[in-house]
Amino acid sequence: MSFKNFGLLEELIRAVEDEGYTEATQIQKEAIPLILEGSDLLAGSQTGSGKTAGFTLPLLQNLITKGVKPGRPVVRALILTPTRELAAQVEESVRTYGKYLPLKSTVVFGGVNINPQISRLRTGVDIVVATPGRLLDLVEQRAINLSLVEILVLDEADRMLDMGFIPDIRRILKLLPQKRQNLLFSATFSNDIKKLADGFLHNPKMIQATRSNEAAPSVTHIIHPVDSKNKSKLLSHLISSQKWGQVLVFTRTKHGANKLTEDLFGNSKITAAAIHGNKSQGARTKALKDFKAGSVQVLVATDIAARGLDIDQLPYVVNFDLPHVPEDYIHRIGRTGRAGHTGNAVSLVCIDERDLLRDIERLLKQSIEKVTIQGFEPDPSIPARPILMGGGGRGGSSQRRNGPSRSSAPRSQQGKPRNSSQNNQNRKEQFRGPRRTPA
Ligand code: ADP
Ligand code: MG
Repeated sequence: MSFKNFGLLEELIRAVEDEGYTEATQIQKEAIPLILEGSDLLAGSQTGSGKTAGFTLPLLQNLITKGVKPGRPVVRALILTPTRELAAQVEESVRTYGKYLPLKSTVVFGGVNINPQISRLRTGVDIVVATPGRLLDLVEQRAINLSLVEILVLDEADRMLDMGFIPDIRRILKLLPQKRQNLLFSATFSNDIKKLADGFLHNPKMIQATRSNEAAPSVTHIIHPVDSKNKSKLLSHLISSQKWGQVLVFTRTKHGANKLTEDLFGNSKITAAAIHGNKSQGARTKALKDFKAGSVQVLVATDIAARGLDIDQLPYVVNFDLPHVPEDYIHRIGRTGRAGHTGNAVSLVCIDERDLLRDIERLLKQSIEKVTIQGFEPDPSIPARPILMGGGGRGGSSQRRNGPSRSSAPRSQQGKPRNSSQNNQNRKEQFRGPRRTPA
């Protein structure tokens, strides 16, 4: 189905054609007509399936064809995302798809100077893409008025939940007018998501373009069993000997991400940059830019930092460590095999990760092929040791799955005072996911 069949404005069709899209994706086919008719929507669809255009195109059209047309722009659409990178990326899409329409947009997120954001908002914008913490800061400083918002979008709503943004979202909801259109997008569907949706959607239409928690069928999964201490050497070996080109690598911890970038260069002069919550926003933006431009070959990321990133046709995604939460495996490998391209999901799995692997295979409902690489055979005499949650090291005490508990400091912060000036995103990153509670 082509974009012409939706009754979209000619300006939108032209912008989509400029992007080279010929056919709408499944989620776009289902979501666009429902959003155009003004319905609330709860939509689930795998990563890389084109959700951004799925909500942005009809949102732009509704702003043009429905509602008020004040002389000076007021904030009429608000798009919330869990991470800064995703906010930037979504706003870029808003500008891309809306380039022939007289609508103004801006993006606001933490970790950077607030003043330019305030100045930009003062000039009047129709569409704001925001992370929740910075948006609330701007509200407190009276730099933004949300009382005329007509359309609210929650993108990556499942990750918003994981990151503990729900209280912020509830505060934001109170600032919006009662009557508005609400759109909630998520890659996975948990009961918590449905509960959140019940709280603020009005008679929502539901779409689930693919089975929830499903990985893209165009991705080939493979596991290389290896001892923990040999992982970085094996990765260097694979990248060099198999001539992988651009690679996105996931590690469980920020420290692990930093160390791996050093090891890759030390082992084989492979250029790598790390992206995680302890890096400044400038460093994160630069790492992503360099990676996209091809001036660094490997981007090493923690789960949160990489959430929702769209990097064109990434051929390889590597799990240097398996994630604690099996759904994160699907999010991670959603960075490859996007929009119909084929992709490779390669996991380096040591004996300690047996249980994590079992959970992932259960979620995928398939067992993943295991291929031992010559010279990197695991030593069978090494016993499995449990992996600590949050700290990410090898340790002695057993792992408990208690779910997030906000009352206890994560391992990495035990004994250190909580730094209240630490930005929201860093704090949120440390609080996400089930992890070990201090004994
Ligand atoms: P999601 O939010 O579902 O993870 P994105 O919206 O980030 O996915 O889109 C993934 C990629 O697919 C982007 O690079 C986007 O430009 C591309 N894309 C979106 N819609 C189409 C389409 N109809 N045809 C071809 N490519 C598309
Ligand atoms: Mg998305």
